[in-house]
Amino acid sequence: MSTVHVVGGGPAGLSAALFTEKNGLETTVYDSDETWMHKAHLFNYPGIGSVDGSGLLETMRNQVDHLGVDRRQGAHVERIEGTDDGFTIETDDGQETADYVVLATGANRDLAEALGCDFDGDIVDVDVTMETSIDGVYATGAMVRAEEWQAVISAGDGAAAALNILSGERGEHYHDFDVPADAEAVFGSMAEE
Ligand SMILES: Cc1cc2nc3c(=O)[nH]c(=O)nc-3n(C[C@H](O)[C@H](O)[C@H](O)COP(=O)(O)OP(=O)(O)OC[C@H]3O[C@@H](n4cnc5c(N)ncnc54)[C@H](O)[C@@H]3O)c2cc1C
Repeated sequence: MSTVHVVGGGPAGLSAALFTEKNGLETTVYDSDETWMHKAHLFNYPGIGSVDGSGLLETMRNQVDHLGVDRRQGAHVERIEGTDDGFTIETDDGQETADYVVLATGANRDLAEALGCDFDGDIVDVDVTMETSIDGVYATGAMVRAEEWQAVISAGDGAAAALNILSGERGEHYHDFDVPADAEAVFGSMAEE
């Protein structure tokens, strides 16, 4: 099974992790917990009228935990290096290896710079797939945007990166589609008796 290591546990990183773990890729999230979400109250996250930023983050964390993501809360990634067959990720707690890296570090772009990702001015250069100039490295959320700093946009970026990874793994465009029958299989019939 391929491994995806996500650096950053804000909306971008947790969204990427949700999609990759849900679809069978072993996923780890490192997060030093300095997300802007702790300062925000959102009236503009579609589908949710009004929510405290930390509260929404807690829901997102619970969702990935439930799916089985290995979430390393409090872990800080110091360095990432490319190897012949993937990447090594060095944290304050040791070293791990991964097949893919998703950077979701908010306004901090140091790891992308140290890895040698191309920049467009101050921001990491990606297209709509969120792939950087380095194979297997993705950048998502606030780090790839000069101004569009909205939680829902970051979450969309994370999902786009994950779907690109999944498409590469499966060798065809991957659609993470579920239908009512899938929900019934998980939750049982919603019909009232
Ligand atoms: C005062 C304020 C109010 C806001 N209000 C709104 C609002 O109403 N609506 C809205 O949509 N948006 C709002 N935002 C913006 C919103 O919070 C951001 O758009 C969103 O948090 C960006 O998500 P992200 O995942 O890209 O980055 P972040 O949420 O910033 O997450 C990045 C995470 O990466 C972690 N990290 C960074 N480097 C490392 C490392 N080396 N190792 C491990 N972890 C690392 C950080 O600690 C952080 O937890 C507001 C922001 C602020 C400051």
